[in-house]
Amino acid sequence: MDALLRVIRHIGQDGVTFGTSGNASARRDGGAFVITPSGVPWSDIAAGDLVTLSASDGTVLEGGSRPSTEWRFHQYLYRSHEWIGGIVHLHSPYATVLATLNTPVKAIHYQMVRVGEQVPVVPYRTFGTPELAEAIQAVIGPQCRAALLENHGLVAVGETVSSAYQAAMEVEWTAMIQYRASLLAPPRVLTEDELQAVRESFRHYGQHPTT
Ligand code: 13P
Ligand code: ZN
Repeated sequence: MDALLRVIRHIGQDGVTFGTSGNASARRDGGAFVITPSGVPWSDIAAGDLVTLSASDGTVLEGGSRPSTEWRFHQYLYRSHEWIGGIVHLHSPYATVLATLNTPVKAIHYQMVRVGEQVPVVPYRTFGTPELAEAIQAVIGPQCRAALLENHGLVAVGETVSSAYQAAMEVEWTAMIQYRASLLAPPRVLTEDELQAVRESFRHYGQHPTT
């Protein structure tokens, strides 16, 4: 199954976002990207509902459904960052709690380092507007692969749509730990030296050839 459809199935099954909230997309060859349809529950989305848009100007190239209302921020990100291959937007609970408090997700756990030093909050703008797309574009970059959307949710990017989903889940998990720890006391944030050491360790983490 195609990677985007696999992520769509996961989001439907994992229960990380409510109803028809959120959207996901993947870059395609030929200056295009494929995005979820607007307002369709995750578990009902079929391959034929996906819509292909031009990454340079957002025109619909293929598909009979109306694309996600957030197609603009996906398009802006693909247009401005060649390395971005996938984008996931969720209204996942803990990220959304912090987003309503205008509180960034901080480096309170080393696992978050692959996403960025912190996950900043993009100021509130109405969903689906060019203003929201511009505000998101202003913060996302190679060193900042996710952002909270004030009073809204989270957005995460990656080289693939699977890594974008993984980044989204890392943000959601860290937001949960930050929220729960904060009920007891302000959690300690890792220092720059500690973060640098983690970045180094991650370069050799997992099933890579021995170095
Ligand atoms: P769509 O169903 O149009 O993708 O909208 C969901 C959403 O989360 C808007 O921010
Ligand atoms: Zn949304």
